[in-house]
Amino acid sequence: MQYRPFGRTGINISTLGFGAMRLPSNPVDGKTVYDEELGIQIIQRAFELGVNYVDTAPYYCDGESEVIVGKALKGWRDKVYLSTKNPIEDSSGANWRERLEKSLRKLDTDHIDFYHMWGIDWETYEKSIDVPNGPLAEAFRAKEEGLIRHVSFSFHDVPESMIRLIDTGHFETVLCQYNLLDRANEQAIAHAHEKGLGVVVMGPVAGGRLGMPSAAIKNLLPGKINSSAEIALRFVMANQGVTCALSGMSSMAMVEENARVASNAAPLTAAELLQIENSMNENKKLADLYCTGCKYCMPCPFDVNIPLIFELMNQHRVYGLTEHAREQYAQIGKNEWMPGKNAEACTECGLCETKCPQSIEIRRQLKESHAALG
Ligand code: SF4
Ligand code: SF4
Repeated sequence: MQYRPFGRTGINISTLGFGAMRLPSNPVDGKTVYDEELGIQIIQRAFELGVNYVDTAPYYCDGESEVIVGKALKGWRDKVYLSTKNPIEDSSGANWRERLEKSLRKLDTDHIDFYHMWGIDWETYEKSIDVPNGPLAEAFRAKEEGLIRHVSFSFHDVPESMIRLIDTGHFETVLCQYNLLDRANEQAIAHAHEKGLGVVVMGPVAGGRLGMPSAAIKNLLPGKINSSAEIALRFVMANQGVTCALSGMSSMAMVEENARVASNAAPLTAAELLQIENSMNENKKLADLYCTGCKYCMPCPFDVNIPLIFELMNQHRVYGLTEHAREQYAQIGKNEWMPGKNAEACTECGLCETKCPQSIEIRRQLKESHAALG
């Protein structure tokens, strides 16, 4: 396992982190039942292989992740750094503290090493975090009491906001999105590194998309890698601003494979990175020909989620991630992350095409998308 200094915290953490958001489960009578025993085993196997950073959150795995992680930490607590998160539901420091205490109980521990303001943006920071008697003041109090060791944030906003949050000087580490398909935070990651913040990356395999077999991705470095997931992880780890890539692992095989990749001491060479970058830029150009995701065509009066459908279509036709694209297409309208309707709901009114700067024949392409993914 490789280790890197975690910003200026004085701690070295493994380049691979255990993301406990997809712990093993089985469907029982239409419900998801988490396999606690197997969950504990695979987390502990990751620890045995040198992973020393585990990340959970109150709502992961229907609220069970923190409990399972807490059990997996028995016997490992002094060797592994624990990260969890506090959802900013309001601007009350007292309520924030209650949520912290609840996490400590569920995790059955007396402290959290890296405690994140969860999924924040700049507006939330200004209006609900850095306010009198608010979460930030409460976090510093909890730190003085030893309940948390480091104040961190996880982030889902535009990169400019990440830079502003870093520049407040209040945070020691940041957790953000970064992968081969989404490099929007690259500058902000470099800025965090420069300012001495540790950077943990979530979604290194793009929520599983890059874990699916894809010739287009695997061929970025022909003959040198075993899987698309390997190149995705190695790409993220090649960025020296990144301290750790979190992978949401749900099986023993994934743990073994990811640990093998993270133990590869030879980083991608500058020439290999350039080769990957050039190929991905070509792919992106091709994807943008189909749809840039600008959303100008929205809203559709019939609730068709055009940009999402075309994004999935691009995953299929540009990156060859067909299996994943089909699975996601089937989820449109079924959860809050995939709102709206699929292409079947299009009445061909034509309104969207009058607004698309790419002059995409949206109606025709929606039909093609439904035929390919529906
Ligand atoms: S053509 Fe279809 S997708 Fe476009 S606005 Fe009309 S119903 Fe919506
Ligand atoms: S306006 Fe055109 S390019 Fe933009 S999201 Fe809609 S279809 Fe894609």
